[in-house]
Amino acid sequence: MALTEPAPVASAAAHEGILRRQSSRESAARTYARSLPIVPVRARGMTIEGADGRRYLDCLSGAGTLALGHNHPVVLEAIKKVIDSGAPLHVLDLATPVKDAFTTELFSTLPRGLADNARIQFCGPAGTDAVEAAFKLVRNATGRGGLLAFTGAYHGMTAGALGASGGATDIQVTRLPFPLDYRCPFGIGGERGATIAARWTRNLLDDPKGGVPTPAGMIVEPVQGEGGVNPAPDAWMRRMRQMTADRSIPLIADEVQTGVGRTGAFWAVEHSGIVPDVMVLSKAIGGSLPLAVIVYRSELDTWRPGAHAGTFRGNQLAMAAGAATLAHVRENGLAARAATLGARMTARLQGLATAHPSIGDVRGRGLMIGMELVDPEAAPRADASGDGIEDTAPPPAPDFAAAVQQECLRRGLIVELGGRHCAVVRLLPPLTLTDEQATAVVDRLADALAAAERSPYRRTATGSDH
Ligand code: PMP
Repeated sequence: MALTEPAPVASAAAHEGILRRQSSRESAARTYARSLPIVPVRARGMTIEGADGRRYLDCLSGAGTLALGHNHPVVLEAIKKVIDSGAPLHVLDLATPVKDAFTTELFSTLPRGLADNARIQFCGPAGTDAVEAAFKLVRNATGRGGLLAFTGAYHGMTAGALGASGGATDIQVTRLPFPLDYRCPFGIGGERGATIAARWTRNLLDDPKGGVPTPAGMIVEPVQGEGGVNPAPDAWMRRMRQMTADRSIPLIADEVQTGVGRTGAFWAVEHSGIVPDVMVLSKAIGGSLPLAVIVYRSELDTWRPGAHAGTFRGNQLAMAAGAATLAHVRENGLAARAATLGARMTARLQGLATAHPSIGDVRGRGLMIGMELVDPEAAPRADASGDGIEDTAPPPAPDFAAAVQQECLRRGLIVELGGRHCAVVRLLPPLTLTDEQATAVVDRLADALAAAERSPYRRTATGSDH
């Protein structure tokens, strides 16, 4: 149904009732539902319509899942085709024509050098399960235990993935500095900061007394998403590739959020030209339905049958929707479109920063954009830490970011918050957004920012999620 007609169930009372029941029945651990009191009843492309009849431009896109936006015709068509064919919807990990077509399409997109020699493991349907599979794979193949991961990383909520994201775990995870331009831990940023971050890692790996036995693998996001939209510099990625290759440490690229054109290349590792040993893929590969896989160099395929099992590894609808999405992104050059539009939106936001000292930084890659909000009044004293290195970034402003998010919502724009201090406004629009929608997103965000600056902002207990 076109969104020009009113939604059949639209009513303010229904909207209120559903939200009330949600807050009295659902877990205290719920996340997006707290900061986004919306009851979606219909959606098309970038537009969501709530039960109260309100419309929103969706820059959250299912936490970066909806490469083609909501209910794209090619996705709906692919789903209908499977249903109409009478194919079984549940098949464990058996072979089917739908799965065969998905695998062929996925392999056709993979970086050369991996595609020629790759294996695929279908995992349980969440990204975090594929991360667990990747860890299991490399630990099995290397016979080693520990893992290398980076500060600010997010890989999921199950034990191993959580450990690699900085949470408590039994796995030995060594946390390494991720290169940051803004708030660089070495106080330098840029290429030099990234070089020092890489040097730290190399020294640690080669220091016989460094306390880090040769690990089973290194996991990295080419652009950290939940960590605040931090693109890894290409030269640093190449250093990580070289360093791990030289030491026979498998490199795992977590492309759960960055994949399928999002960053302006089909896969974000293509920016640096590296070929990882393992890629973790989920979100957009399922075309809005749950699907998660790992693809990896076939030499690593030494684990035993059943080493990573799971009942829901054969979602036929997700595979059909995913194959249609991958093909559509590829055939329509949507990665290049994401690069162009993303650069335009980022430049406009950077322009906005010159007039708004509350914008500390604007960064991103393609249509993965972050705007870090700060408290300009609390500008850091030069050399506040007394170590001779000047701190230039004002403190982050999470309360203000929450206020901006609410003002965006009032203006019909859904944005996500993320970053270490939850002070980064994140934009993850679908790759199909039009020029007009891109302009409207920045206009509404600018307006929301100005409104939040005018009003004393209040704290909302939200927290980013994934
Ligand atoms: N890795 C990355 C880079 C992610 O962004 C996420 C989710 N935001 C995950 C893994 C975990 O995926 P899921 O929520 O589907 O378990």
